[in-house]
Amino acid sequence: MRNASITLNSAALTHNLNQVIKKIPKKTKILAMVKADAYGHGVKHCLPSLQQADALGVACFDEAKQIRSLGWQKGIVLIEGVFSQQEWAESIEAECQSIVHHQYQVQWALEKLPTSDSASRTMWLKLNTGMNRLGFEPKEIVAVAKTLVDAGYNLILTSHFANADCPDHPSNANQIKIFTDTLTALRDQVDSNIKASLCNSAGIINFPECHFDWVRPGIMLYGSTPLEGISAQELQLQPVMTFAASLMAIHNIAAGASVGYGSRFVANRPMVKGIVSIGYGDGYPRVVDGSAWVTVTPQVKNTASDSTEPETVVSYKCPVIGRVAMDMIAIDLTEVPNPTVGCKVVLWGDPDQSEPSVDEIANSAHTLGYELLCRVTQRPTRVVI
Ligand SMILES: *Cc1c(COP(=O)(O)O)cnc(C)c1O
Repeated sequence: MRNASITLNSAALTHNLNQVIKKIPKKTKILAMVKADAYGHGVKHCLPSLQQADALGVACFDEAKQIRSLGWQKGIVLIEGVFSQQEWAESIEAECQSIVHHQYQVQWALEKLPTSDSASRTMWLKLNTGMNRLGFEPKEIVAVAKTLVDAGYNLILTSHFANADCPDHPSNANQIKIFTDTLTALRDQVDSNIKASLCNSAGIINFPECHFDWVRPGIMLYGSTPLEGISAQELQLQPVMTFAASLMAIHNIAAGASVGYGSRFVANRPMVKGIVSIGYGDGYPRVVDGSAWVTVTPQVKNTASDSTEPETVVSYKCPVIGRVAMDMIAIDLTEVPNPTVGCKVVLWGDPDQSEPSVDEIANSAHTLGYELLCRVTQRPTRVVI
């Protein structure tokens, strides 16, 4: 069988959630973001480790329905709100909470009011504080809030940072000021019970004074860094995903031989080259530059079978060479003693185990860990440990 796998470490997910819990005040609740199938991990595999979260955040109603069908009974928040009046009605049935970021959603909310005991009576009111993606402007939001509160809704004011990963960026202070000023105005003029939520992962780490009533961690739960220049390891986050495959062929090639599509890689010396059963069809990025590497762990032959000493496992860092294909990549095995077909190759996993982190490979692909995690496909087998 072709060997390409995604191993999910439940203990790491629990650990990362606990890292969030440690950073926030006791009264602050956690909306764990599980959009895009839990950042590519598979939400059904992640739910058991997220039981301590107060609610789960998704991008669309289909994702919410899936989570309900998996038995999640606590809150679900549609972070882009509903996309039709029909969906608004269905989201009430499913006891979801919605963001309201636009007038058309206010209209639907006014036309159909959830019962007073329904979770859907709480609305997340989106304020544009400067990201300029979604949300009401500060000058219009008081009127919107008043309409919703008068109709019987409870509100959570929410907004999103544009640059939370760079704490010194001047937009952060601006956004925080607009958010807190607006919150004060709403509490003074509309409803003193209005709650607030501002921080994603980077905000949780960089702006502890802004945790308010709800935080919304995403990427940090999965053990990839939300910050530029600070690794997940330094933040004491553990990678949840290990992306691995195995060696399916080994060849000696001569100096001057080229490898793969476009003959892009040319050996400058005699080399040992390995082919690994993984490619962009599994989610390994085709666009990696020459800096991408994998960890190869040769199978240790048990020569002294009477020995009770555990074998020490040595692994080797091997560069990815040539173009990434749909199903295969080539690697340089020259430095690996006795590589064998079938031995394990880790594409990204745990830097504590000398494996590349997803963030390191994301660097080689000129993107973020977020994108690589979301883009793993359904083809690799998923194993939960
Ligand atoms: C995705 C998302 C988050 C989580 O962001 P991370 O950077 O992954 O922590 C938080 N809030 C909103 C509105 C989001 O869309």
